[in-house]
Amino acid sequence: MARDYYGILGVGRNASDQEIKRAYRKLARELHPDVNPDQEAQERFREVSTAYEVLTDAEKRRIVDMGGDPMESAGAGGGFSGAGFGGLGDVFEAFFGGMNGGGGGARKPRGRVQPGADSLLRTRLSLAECAVGVTKHLTVDTAVLCDLCQGAGTNGKSKPVRCETCGGAGEVQTVQRSFLGQVMTSRPCPTCRGAGETIPDPCRKCGGDGRVRSRREIAAPIPAGVAGGMRVRLAAQGEIGPGGGPAGDLYVEIVEQPHDTFVRDGDDLHCTIRVPMVDAALGTTVVIDTILDGPTELSIPAGTQPGEVSVLRAHGMPKLRSSSRGDLVAHLDIVVPSKLDGKQADLLRKYQSTRGNEHTEVLSAQSEHNSGLFARLRASFSGR
Ligand SMILES: [Zn+2]
Ligand SMILES: [Zn+2]
Repeated sequence: MARDYYGILGVGRNASDQEIKRAYRKLARELHPDVNPDQEAQERFREVSTAYEVLTDAEKRRIVDMGGDPMESAGAGGGFSGAGFGGLGDVFEAFFGGMNGGGGGARKPRGRVQPGADSLLRTRLSLAECAVGVTKHLTVDTAVLCDLCQGAGTNGKSKPVRCETCGGAGEVQTVQRSFLGQVMTSRPCPTCRGAGETIPDPCRKCGGDGRVRSRREIAAPIPAGVAGGMRVRLAAQGEIGPGGGPAGDLYVEIVEQPHDTFVRDGDDLHCTIRVPMVDAALGTTVVIDTILDGPTELSIPAGTQPGEVSVLRAHGMPKLRSSSRGDLVAHLDIVVPSKLDGKQADLLRKYQSTRGNEHTEVLSAQSEHNSGLFARLRASFSGR
């Protein structure tokens, strides 16, 4: 569900960037972990910071104003740098010149061995491939374990030593002035990059990182029913960590190619069928070349009206991890002939003479047809 970012900051929907900034600063003064160690305050500070990040980003704010939540899609799948809370660092940087992790106090150096990052790949699938599932052979470029040092990072027998810059703490501290007063901030040590130790004689293949980049082929099983934007997770197929740490996950994001006939809406498929006026009046059948069931007959009953739909139940896309399926919805476009030759016009006049009661008329605003039409008109005007 979309969060109320304006409400979180206590500003109106028309608030200017200046007003948003002011509201954020005011709340941050109360809630920043350096000022208020309360657990609840920290939660709120995260919320407030996210709201600030969203509302000062024109693109994200546009999504909010359209009723969406930019942080939900960004966070889906999770774990990518720059997505979700990962992007929060920038806000802290802008206001506090770096963050100290929120908890305060000394942290242990994070060590040389670290878990690896997740990776993201995109793959294009046709609608048919989304419908039946497919195994995609993809080329992945990730960090893998250095085979020369087996992740140790050292050349020969030398051992890592304590970092001189940070004395093994993995971070260095600076005191900065900000609008909160003096704030002590900690940054990862620039010499050992947070590890707390350095390698005097690093591996000549990996330079001490314990890993090297490599391309490889993988077979990614894509289940039936996926849709564009979904991510399939392949556990431990991402980047291996520094020092030979456990590998992150690999996510394969689906990009769905448009289909010639069908437009997808969730698990339903929609298509448009042109029906000549006479066929609509008398009834007919049409064969649709469906994606999963081959050519399938759809009957168009006599007396079909313009704009009506005909539904083939359970002939749409399969639902993910389920045996049920969506529907195939055919929208019937009734076509009135634009040119008649003399004989055809005569036949229609004869037909007309047999239907004496029918005539062209202006409908009452209260008629069933109009009430629907006007409701749609009103909705389209008030929606802006
Ligand atoms: Zn190595
Ligand atoms: Zn260091």
